[in-house]
Amino acid sequence: MDVIKNCPVCDSSKFTKFLDSKDFFLTSEEFKIDICTNCGFKFTNPRPDKKALSKYYESIDYISHSNINKGIINKLYRFVRQFTIKNKIRLITKFVNEGNVLDIGCGSGEFLNELKKQNWNVTGIEPNESARKFAAENYGINALEENDFNNLEKNSFDVITLWHVLEHVFDIEERILQIKKIISKKGILVIALPNPDSLDAKIYGKYWAAYDLPRHLYHFNKATVERLFNKYGFSIIKLKPMFFDSFYVSMLSEKYKTGKVNYPKAFFNGLRSNFFAAFNNKNYSSIIYILNYT
Ligand SMILES: [Zn+2]
Repeated sequence: MDVIKNCPVCDSSKFTKFLDSKDFFLTSEEFKIDICTNCGFKFTNPRPDKKALSKYYESIDYISHSNINKGIINKLYRFVRQFTIKNKIRLITKFVNEGNVLDIGCGSGEFLNELKKQNWNVTGIEPNESARKFAAENYGINALEENDFNNLEKNSFDVITLWHVLEHVFDIEERILQIKKIISKKGILVIALPNPDSLDAKIYGKYWAAYDLPRHLYHFNKATVERLFNKYGFSIIKLKPMFFDSFYVSMLSEKYKTGKVNYPKAFFNGLRSNFFAAFNNKNYSSIIYILNYT
């Protein structure tokens, strides 16, 4: 196990325990989240060593999950995915209209494929080999391995996206420095993250599915995203809610808590979370952060 001794955001060494929970998705192993008493950053601590982390992803099969199975749930999933992709592109084009996009953690490439159709130059990075192959064979997408990061050209990307990816990155400082190097002067960085300050996180506590231990190494909120990225010269220029996530996360959390999904209850809690955020603190279940480099 790898023990974090200094806060990845503010470097303080003073932490307290925030929560005990476990890997509900796969191994049932127990993990703990610490909170930095100086800046409030929450992180999984200790966490599996970098090499040991891959075992926690073993049952995640992008291809069978997303592209081959038929049936109602899968149809619904694909419908929501298409809708979400269109929304993401609409959001991006408010800031940048054309150019080079890098999607870090591109999965099987559906998001990049949609951008490609709209004449963007697209590149993906994806650690999962079968997902990379799928993206290349089905959509002709240039999907690279993580090692290829260092071969990417300086100041060359107008848009860099990480859709629910940053919370999985082991060497976060290294990754942000790489991004800083390859983003263009007027480029935007788009990061989607689950939000532990959301109402659904409070309702489900240790069963909240978006803690997703130990795959999620960090549990960012608005303040810690801002503080971390300011350190590297980025500023947040816009925040956007992801409305579907509260439903999906509540559904999974219900399952983790009770062993089965109570759909009406999950739907109700998802709705509650969105309404609470809309009328109170904008702490939606997931948030998209748009940043630029200043
Ligand atoms: Zn801190």
